[in-house]
Amino acid sequence: MSDSRNARVMLVTGASRGIGAEIALLAAERGWRVAVNYLRSEAAAQEVVGRIRAMGGEAVALQADVGKLPEVVRMFAQLDDALGPLDALVNNAGVLASFRIADVDEHNVADLYAANVFSAYYCAREAVRRMARSRGGKGGVIVNMSSVASRLGGLAGGSAYAGSKGAIDSFNLALAKEVGPEGIRVNTLRPGLIATDIHDVHGGIAPMQQMAKTAVPLGRDGSAREVAQAALWLAEEESSYVHGAVLDVSGGR
Ligand code: NAP
Repeated sequence: MSDSRNARVMLVTGASRGIGAEIALLAAERGWRVAVNYLRSEAAAQEVVGRIRAMGGEAVALQADVGKLPEVVRMFAQLDDALGPLDALVNNAGVLASFRIADVDEHNVADLYAANVFSAYYCAREAVRRMARSRGGKGGVIVNMSSVASRLGGLAGGSAYAGSKGAIDSFNLALAKEVGPEGIRVNTLRPGLIATDIHDVHGGIAPMQQMAKTAVPLGRDGSAREVAQAALWLAEEESSYVHGAVLDVSGGR
């Protein structure tokens, strides 16, 4: 555990719960100073911050709807004040909504794309403005969070979710080309079935775990910790020549 003001700074969006919380905690264990973004779960975000401080780390909770640009701009300004220059952005925040194509309206698709896609653009914009060498920055790392739904299509009713994650896969590739020369490495994780609250929208994790016994070659769901370990690998120097990649964390599915 590093307690140095020089330790690297990571912003994890959607870090109050699930995969994001595990990324924040593992990053802190490895000496990162961590900004824990959340939308509504203030108590949960403060608990993550409290656990990091209890292990001697440094963290701050930052509320913002990352699907809204003015809130992202405000959050990054708060981050500058609280922790200083950003070294790594993890674009993790996302929602899973299920609706059939016949039920699409101008709100359900737009809300899902705001949370899952626009958030990545807005946060990457603010991060690149700070990290790019041509702007006086020192480079950095961006890790995006896709899903195997981008190549499997998700469950019935999942076309918006699957499409939003397909957008992240393409965003990853294009952003890597654009900002690699700026000293910014960009990669994307594509988790499979991971045990978190996100599955409450379709009846919880239990039926999905049953399905995983046969549908997933490793015969089980994954943990948020297992995704966090991959995220930290992409954020750190061990992956220094990995750029524009999409890494499945899906038990072979
Ligand atoms: P989760 O347990 O439901 O947690 C979602 C997190 O995102 C929460 O911290 C939530 O904040 C935050 N969030 C949602 N919308 C936000 C917004 N507009 N602004 C800021 N924060 C927002 O989800 P998860 O399973 O950990 O998923 C994390 C990421 O992994 C998502 O991008 C998801 O699509 C992806 N993924 C998950 C799985 C899986 O099986 N779990 C598989 C593939 C990909 P509040 O707590 O404040 O609501």
